[in-house]
Amino acid sequence: MKHLFVLAALALGVSVAAQAQQDYPGGKPVTIVVPFSAGGPTDRVARDLAEALRKPLGGASVVIDNVPGAGSSIGAAKVARAKPDGYTLLLNHIGMATIPTLVRNVPFKVETDFEYLGIVNDVPMTLIARPSMAANSYAELAGWVAANKGRINLGNAGVGSASHLCGLLYQSAMKTDMTPVPYKGTAPAVTDLIGGQIDLLCDQTTNTSPQIEAKKVKAYAVTTSKRLATPLLKDLPTLQEAGLRDFQVTIWHGLYAPKGTPAPVLKQINDALKVALKDPDFVKKQEGLGAVVASDGRIEPEGHKKFVAAEIAKWSPVIKAAGVYAD
Ligand code: ASP
Repeated sequence: MKHLFVLAALALGVSVAAQAQQDYPGGKPVTIVVPFSAGGPTDRVARDLAEALRKPLGGASVVIDNVPGAGSSIGAAKVARAKPDGYTLLLNHIGMATIPTLVRNVPFKVETDFEYLGIVNDVPMTLIARPSMAANSYAELAGWVAANKGRINLGNAGVGSASHLCGLLYQSAMKTDMTPVPYKGTAPAVTDLIGGQIDLLCDQTTNTSPQIEAKKVKAYAVTTSKRLATPLLKDLPTLQEAGLRDFQVTIWHGLYAPKGTPAPVLKQINDALKVALKDPDFVKKQEGLGAVVASDGRIEPEGHKKFVAAEIAKWSPVIKAAGVYAD
């Protein structure tokens, strides 16, 4: 009798849990944590994605929670410790693969603290400078960099961020040291670049394109191995063309949930993500900013996880060889 009661209670518990999962998101808002400040490149992607996810998530409101600081570590750690119920997600970039090598004592484990939901896009970076920079070509800028060793202020979004990685690789390739100026995201870094408080910044096209178009900053090169097709950026040389052999950084964004989120909920979010990635409005907005929306095997959780593991394997020797660590 006692056994029967336990079995019945267990069955009830299972069916209540299953029901809760079936009801997901059930009218409750879903939060996407952006580990950088509002108005920057990761925020831009997250806000466009939130809009595209609303319909496939049954009309749920998808809200953005900016949790900036420490090059994305604070926001990522918050999601790693959040309730694994599908209502708190993380959108983060290549930092997920580079932070473990770039920074000591990261407050989360990329491989084991998250469920992988799919890659969203790939985004090139641009090397930009304050509007008063006299150089009119990348060659002239390179001459200025060489002549001003130790006197250049280089912005970044904190240790471990994409702009930090790109800046470190650039300094290593140029055999020069610049003064790093950390911000909580590249949105405030660009504001200071426009104001002339810093000299240089390496940042995603999703953030820099509008400023380049408005001629508020000067753009000198792209970080991809090929020139970009976007009309606004197509005339910028690649850093490889400009003589920095092997220089290649492309930023990608992925969506994550805390480890232990129920499988049916993960499937629902991944299904919704795949619909969002085909949303014509989302694709158009992203392409207009120089990003390429993911459509390959990386949009599946397995493909995403494999890709991040491959990126960790790819970047950790590069970071180690360049000797670019941060405490
Ligand atoms: N993605 C930027 C970086 O890592 C920061 C940001 O999104 O604001 O530099």
